[in-house]
Amino acid sequence: MNDKAFESVIGLEVHAQLQTQSKIFCGCSTRFGDQPNSHTCPVCLGMPGVLPVINRKVVEFAIMTSLALHCEEIPPRSVFARKNYFYPDLPKGYQISQYESPLALRGSLEIPAGGNGLRKIGITRVHLEEDAGKLVHGEGADSGSSFVDLNRAGVPLMEIVSEPDLRTPEEAGDYLRRLAAILVYLGVCDGKMEEGSLRCDANVSVRRRGETALGVKTELKNMNSFKNVEKALAKEIQRQIALVSEGKKVVQETLLWDPDNEVTLPMRGKEEAHDYRYFPEPDLLPLVLENSWVEELKKKIPELPQEKADRFVRDLGLTRYDAEVLVAAKPVSDFFDETVKIHPEPKKVSNWVTGEFLRIYWAEGGGPVKMTPQNLARIIKMVDEGKISGLVGKKVLEESYKNGQDPEKIVQEQGLSQVSDESALIGIIDEVIKDSPKEVERFKSGEEKLLQFLTGQVMKKSKGKANPKRVGELLKSRLGK
Ligand SMILES: [Zn+2]
Repeated sequence: MNDKAFESVIGLEVHAQLQTQSKIFCGCSTRFGDQPNSHTCPVCLGMPGVLPVINRKVVEFAIMTSLALHCEEIPPRSVFARKNYFYPDLPKGYQISQYESPLALRGSLEIPAGGNGLRKIGITRVHLEEDAGKLVHGEGADSGSSFVDLNRAGVPLMEIVSEPDLRTPEEAGDYLRRLAAILVYLGVCDGKMEEGSLRCDANVSVRRRGETALGVKTELKNMNSFKNVEKALAKEIQRQIALVSEGKKVVQETLLWDPDNEVTLPMRGKEEAHDYRYFPEPDLLPLVLENSWVEELKKKIPELPQEKADRFVRDLGLTRYDAEVLVAAKPVSDFFDETVKIHPEPKKVSNWVTGEFLRIYWAEGGGPVKMTPQNLARIIKMVDEGKISGLVGKKVLEESYKNGQDPEKIVQEQGLSQVSDESALIGIIDEVIKDSPKEVERFKSGEEKLLQFLTGQVMKKSKGKANPKRVGELLKSRLGK
């Protein structure tokens, strides 16, 4: 089997839960984690004779997203449709969605394509729909019973469908991460796949390189993290290539990703659109968007990740790679921007933020940045001025991040100031010389690189407080160089 003889064709369908206070067609709260069925009313319970009313904020969020995704068409009139199917967590027996006349069409999104390059991925459509409820399967005494919680029924979802433009699992991952970042920048979705507020289904097929017709596709579901999307796609592509290589056929079906065993399992034959008996929703008027409203929303769109990364490269001289790392999480890119205003050395600040800062940020759970830009600027300044070593700077950064303390105070209270004074250093230097006779000999006989080793030993013994430059000088003079 030769994998290189094949290419894969991937399209993604992403469901984003919109961050509104109330549901899409009623006034019930969208708050998560409360008592089951405590956020329900006749509308979201699907009682007969009640009428849905569209939530203006939901439409606003979808328009903003469509604008951010460069949709060429946001039709002045779109139509909601009934998607009929039976499921125990869907009391109406149908889901209100959009089908023939979606909210927006023909957009695009750019993903990194090596070096400074970018690749445009087409977006087919953006539409609105309601979420279903949730089944909870009983345990213990309730084992064998199932319960339904309708708090989630009617929570607004925005579906974003891509063109089959993605060619590798990594590209799919890049597309998803970038899309999540855009939604977070817009403030319309929290972008958390692990918590289900961003869900992704993938359509994937393979074909021999050079072929233009599409192969038979399968649909992958249940991939609850960015990493799992990449893993599941890689596994499925391998499976399909193996089948086709052996002259067998890929069957069109829906597969569930099992993240624990890292395998895909058949779920059911794939439904066709006609199985759902779509028809225009008679309980809702067509959605009419006034142009002035769309124009007004255009002005509300903030600087998005792509523009921000471009600005970091163009105006601040950062590499594309660093710029992309910075813009991936909005709080981090905002923090970087603010720190550069106080300490106008972008490359230096970028090194600190993309290095030690990001490590601590993710270790502390991400989310809003828990330190002020002023405090990072102070740490960088102390290191620059030689008041503390770079190593100590990292330690101070971690403490200041965790407890919000003033970095200068941390240095003062813990006696972390860098030591450049000969009398304070010479004792440690002599100890190191005594403990490393072999290395000292090699250095004396001309192996210059041993100076780094010896300096390192002194740094270790001084717990990072010695000034490395001064240590080097003192070592040399001590060893008669
Ligand atoms: Zn309700």
